[in-house]
Amino acid sequence: MKETTKIKKSNELKEIIWLDNIIRPNIKELKPYSTARDESDLKCAVYLDANESPYNSGYNRYPDPHSKELKRAAAVSICKQVQIFIDSGVNPEHFMPKPENIFAGNGSDEAIDLLIRIFCIPGRDNIITLSPTYGMYKVCASINDISYRELSLETDFSFDRERLLKLSDKNSKIIFLCSPNNPTGNLLKKEDVIWVIERFGGVVVVDEAYIDFASDAGFVPMIDQYPNLVVLRTMSKAKGMAAIRVGFALSSPKIIAFMERVKYPYNISRVNQELAIRALKESDPTIVETIIAERDMLAASLGRSTGVERVYPSNSNFLLVKFTDAKKIYNKLLNAGIVTRDRSDVAGCSQTLRITVGKPLENRALLSVINGDSAKKFSDCIELSRVTKETKIQVRIYPDGGRDSEIRTGVGFFDHMLEQISVHSGISMDIDACGDLKVDPHHTVEDVAIVLGEAFKRMISAKKGYNRYGFVLPMDESRAEVLLDLGGRASFIWDVSFKGERVGEFPCEMFRHFFSTLSSSALVTLHISAQGDNDHHKGEAIFKAFARALRVALSNDVNLYQTPSSKGVI
Ligand SMILES: *Cc1c(COP(=O)(O)O)cnc(C)c1O
Repeated sequence: MKETTKIKKSNELKEIIWLDNIIRPNIKELKPYSTARDESDLKCAVYLDANESPYNSGYNRYPDPHSKELKRAAAVSICKQVQIFIDSGVNPEHFMPKPENIFAGNGSDEAIDLLIRIFCIPGRDNIITLSPTYGMYKVCASINDISYRELSLETDFSFDRERLLKLSDKNSKIIFLCSPNNPTGNLLKKEDVIWVIERFGGVVVVDEAYIDFASDAGFVPMIDQYPNLVVLRTMSKAKGMAAIRVGFALSSPKIIAFMERVKYPYNISRVNQELAIRALKESDPTIVETIIAERDMLAASLGRSTGVERVYPSNSNFLLVKFTDAKKIYNKLLNAGIVTRDRSDVAGCSQTLRITVGKPLENRALLSVINGDSAKKFSDCIELSRVTKETKIQVRIYPDGGRDSEIRTGVGFFDHMLEQISVHSGISMDIDACGDLKVDPHHTVEDVAIVLGEAFKRMISAKKGYNRYGFVLPMDESRAEVLLDLGGRASFIWDVSFKGERVGEFPCEMFRHFFSTLSSSALVTLHISAQGDNDHHKGEAIFKAFARALRVALSNDVNLYQTPSSKGVI
C-alpha cells in the first residue's frame, strides 16, 4: 500500500470508530424504511410497486426520496458562492460537494432536529451553543429532552474558544455555531471555529444561513478535511425561497448517510424540489448585491440618526441596532406599518431592534420614520398579487403618493413606462413582477396590467368626490390624447400605429394590449390616440397622458382641466 493510501485508510478507520462512539445506538442499528422506488432505477417502467394512482394528475407519483437533482443544483450553487473567495489556479471542481455530502431537508430546521436525534440520547446528553443565537437549537433540544449549555458572547460578539470547550463533557454531542450569527449579524472568527472543530470530540455544526451576504467562503470547503463538521445552508434567505422550506446540511458521507436514514422517506415534496431547483438555477445575483449595498447604506444612515446608539457591523441581511429607547422606535415604526424584531429582552442585546434589509423604498421609509418624519402609513396602500404558471405579480399602490416608487418587472422599457404612470399621476407604486421572460414579455405585461387595473378599480371605488372624467393632450414632438371615464364601464378605443415592430425589447403591440387589459380590469373607459415619428416617444407620451388624465379624473379640483405641459408649468 502507498503511504498516503495507508494514512487515508487509517483516518477512515478512525472516523468509523469515532462515529460509532458518538452516534445513538438505536440509530446505528436502525433499519430504515425502504421506499419502493429506492431499489429500482428503471426508465419507462410500469410502476405497480407503491400503490399510487396510475392516472396522471401531475402529482400522482411519489417524489424522488433522495432529492438527487436538487442536491446537484445545490452543489453547483454552493460551488459558485465558494469559488469567489478561493485562489484562482485551484480547480473549482475541487470545491463542488458531491451528492453524498449533501442532505436536503424541509428547511435547515429539519437538519437541526435530525442531528440532535441522531447524536443525542434524550435525558442524558447535551448540546452547546453561544448566546445570543438562533432560537431553534434550544427548541429542538427541549423537544428531544436534551440539555442545553450556552456560552455568552463577548461584548464585541466574538467568543472565547477555551471557555466554550470547557463547557463540554463526555455527554456533549453537538456544538452549534451560527456564522454569520443571528441576531448579532457578525461572522465568527474562522481560526476560532477551526480550533473548536479540531478539539471537540463531538460534532460541530456551522449554520451558514446568511453566508451569501458575507465576504467569505464559509466552511463548506473543509467538510472533506473534518469528518465531525456539518455545515448548514438554506433556501430561505439569500435564495428568496422561505415559503418552500428547503435547506441543506453538508458533511462527510457517513453523517449524511445517517441523516438520510432517519428523515421521513419522502421528506421534500416534488413541487418544492422543482421550485428549489429552478430558484437555484435562475437565481439573480443582483438581488444579493442590492441587499448588501442597501445594508451598508442603511447602516451608515442609521449611524447618523438621533436616538441610535450603535449599529453593529453586519455580514448578513439584517442590522442589529441599539437605540436609546428601542421600544419607542419599535412602536413608532409599527404605527407607520413597519414591523421589526425587538431583541431587547435577549441577553447582551438590551435596547436593540433587529432590522431586516428591505427593498430600497422600504429602507428609505424606515429611515424617514426613525428620523422623525410623520410618514404615511404603509397600511394605507392597496395591495394585490396574482400568481399564475407564467408570472408572479405583486402590486402596491399608494393613492395619495408621497412615497418613492419602485418598479421591477424584468423588462427595462416597461419599468420606465410604468414609472411615467407613477410620476405623472401622483400615485406611488411598488410593482414587483417575475415572469417567463425567456419566452417574451407578453405574459408579464398583461398580468401587470390585470393586477394594476384591479388596484385602480379598488382605488376608484374607495374614492369619494372626484371629477370622473379626464382628458389630456400633452405636447412634445409626439403627442397623445387620452380620454378617461372612471364611471365603472370598460370600453376601449385605440387609434395609434407604430412604425416599427419593437422599441428595444418591447413589442409595440404590447402598448395596445397593456391599455386594453388595464381598461377591462380597472373598469374604465379609455380612448387613446397618438401621433409622432418616434415609437419610443409616442409610447411614452401615451403613458404620460394616461397618467395625467387619471390624475385629473381622480381629483375633485376642476382647475386641473387644462392642458398640462409635460415640461411643467411655463
Ligand atoms: C433563518 C435561519 C435559518 C433558516 O432556517 P430554514 O428552516 O432553512 O428556513 C437557519 N439558521 C438561522 C440561524 C437562521 O437565521
